[in-house]
Amino acid sequence: MRYARELFAPLGAVVAVGALNATGTWSFADVSVGEFLEGRRQQWDGLFAAVCSLCAFDGDEARATADEMGYFRDYDLYAPILVLWSAGVTGTESLHDPSPSVVRRMCRMAADLQLTEFLDMLVAVALDAGTDAATGASQVTEVLANACDLADPTGNVTPHHVHRMWRVARLPSVLRPDSPTPDHVKAGLRSYDGTLEELLGEGPPERGYRYVGPAELAVTARQSTATGTRIASVVDFESWAGRQSQAELAEPFTYVVGLDGLLRLAARRSEHVACAGGAAVLGAGEITFVCVREAGRWTVDEVSNQSTGYCPDVTSWPAVARALDRIPLRRPTAFTHEVVFRRCPACAEHNIVREADFVCVFCGVELPQAWNIVDEAGRSARE
Ligand SMILES: [Zn+2]
Repeated sequence: MRYARELFAPLGAVVAVGALNATGTWSFADVSVGEFLEGRRQQWDGLFAAVCSLCAFDGDEARATADEMGYFRDYDLYAPILVLWSAGVTGTESLHDPSPSVVRRMCRMAADLQLTEFLDMLVAVALDAGTDAATGASQVTEVLANACDLADPTGNVTPHHVHRMWRVARLPSVLRPDSPTPDHVKAGLRSYDGTLEELLGEGPPERGYRYVGPAELAVTARQSTATGTRIASVVDFESWAGRQSQAELAEPFTYVVGLDGLLRLAARRSEHVACAGGAAVLGAGEITFVCVREAGRWTVDEVSNQSTGYCPDVTSWPAVARALDRIPLRRPTAFTHEVVFRRCPACAEHNIVREADFVCVFCGVELPQAWNIVDEAGRSARE
């Protein structure tokens, strides 16, 4: 098991950054690496097993090494270690009691740096173990996708980004003609780089959802000036909240995330298409807020993708999370209520799938496993 420690060290940093991002407060007092991993047990086990297979590690031995390093269970996470992982880019004044916004910046920098380091070690150890790109590259992308998701589930850093950071930061020095790197290592790295580029392509474009509800509502919405209130900052949010009554604030509001990535809020039971001004959205649903009195701070209590006007897929979560983080508001780590929308292939009715029972409630025909909503013209409602 050569280089296991060198590989697990950046992975430990990635996990710690994920645990800090998951707090939503970026406060060291709130973070628990143990709880973070426990809540993602399946994802973590899958990632670890894929790393072992790629690097020809013995599973038990690898677990023992990882346990010994102590990064994958609860430990005291504090500012200096994050300064180290983010290479001091945010300045050493952040060593002492950094503000949440500085911790967030450190997390972003640490995620970029440590994921790049992790990819570098992953490819090096895979090559050392005799796993070439033809068999290993697709596993590398899978491991990387899981690691990116652990570090930042809002999609700020993707395997596509990490591959390009790695290529720029690491490959020139080892691949330039006068580098002493052995030729077979150069060939192996070039092959991984090429195959990863092919597999990761241009990166996933963020796609919006088109309105698929009754046409007359869309017409009204486009003519209306009463679109949702755009919330780009805490000031925007507090000013909007100040205009709502206590009774209104206790109930869910209509929200959409526009193609600009910003949250828009409208009164309860107003149409999502009106909230969006008739435009396509990255996410839509219902949302409730609570004010944590002692902290004087607003938090998202419940949030769903419940919008029969847009029928967004459950995979719209990262766009919703990102819109909330941009304000920022504290938020849950996933939809608190997920709605699974499917169009019936036989009768074309929109169904809400309950308890994983993929059967049309209108005609009894089996519904597909994948999201399949189309607009009136029969185009996929996902742009
Ligand atoms: Zn049907």
